[in-house]
Amino acid sequence: MFTADLIVMYHGVVPDDEPLDDWLQVPASRFRDQLAFFTRWFTPVCVETFFTTPRKAWQKPRLLVTFDDGYANNLTVAAPILQEYRVPALFFLATGYLETPWFWWDRLRAGLATVGKKPSAALVAEIKALAPSAVEAKVTAILEACGAHAALPPTPALRPLTWAEAQQLARLPGVAIGNHGHCHEIFAHLDEAALAHTLTLSQRLLTERLGVAPQWIAPPNGDWRRDQINRFAELGFQAIFTTQPGWVTWQRSAPSPRVLPRVGIGATDRPLNLAKRLVKTRLHQAVPRGEGS
Ligand SMILES: [Zn+2]
Repeated sequence: MFTADLIVMYHGVVPDDEPLDDWLQVPASRFRDQLAFFTRWFTPVCVETFFTTPRKAWQKPRLLVTFDDGYANNLTVAAPILQEYRVPALFFLATGYLETPWFWWDRLRAGLATVGKKPSAALVAEIKALAPSAVEAKVTAILEACGAHAALPPTPALRPLTWAEAQQLARLPGVAIGNHGHCHEIFAHLDEAALAHTLTLSQRLLTERLGVAPQWIAPPNGDWRRDQINRFAELGFQAIFTTQPGWVTWQRSAPSPRVLPRVGIGATDRPLNLAKRLVKTRLHQAVPRGEGS
């Protein structure tokens, strides 16, 4: 298993005294345990090193940490802990949500919780299939229909970053920024024009406001189509980070842009079960399909 490297996918890290019933939001102390595990068994590297410097045979497997979406907690909670453990990270931002109070899925979940309900997987899938412009209105309609209301996120760390915070994050040592679409659109549902729109808009905003054109893209939800790969290449993306679980094996003739698997890490991942899950992932690893899950 040590002939491969690993990319992990986080979403958020929340303060211990503001826990959330959400696998994607890892309590800070659990995140520390996870980083202690990773720094013991892996060599954490930044994204540039990951691609440009091959691993020596005697080295531990390398680890690239990524975060999706652009939660404020990436800056306020996760970044100081990453710095403490000297772990670089790549943050994929959905530009259209910056400066807004909520990501739609958190507003839906928190709103329904006020009337004792949880969103079903079917409902979430239904909303993901909508045109991007219809998503927020649909969430509002669902909440109004059951008398639910969502004020502000249950922890301030759950809101999206502001642009000023994104700039602060981008300036930290070891931090790189990637593209996660504009409105977190599901790329697999977009026609060519809509895909071009979200990619060029998000890329322009990131470049203008953070000063660097991202070379890395994570299609939201890991859902994209193989016929879209040329568009990613045209915009200069060097790698597509999927949600297909797996380790990164380095082949000589990798296609460009590269299509990379990632292992999602969440709130329940204690070091021991994390180790077991990583070994299992490696043993059962299929050839990456690339379309995500
Ligand atoms: Zn996302």
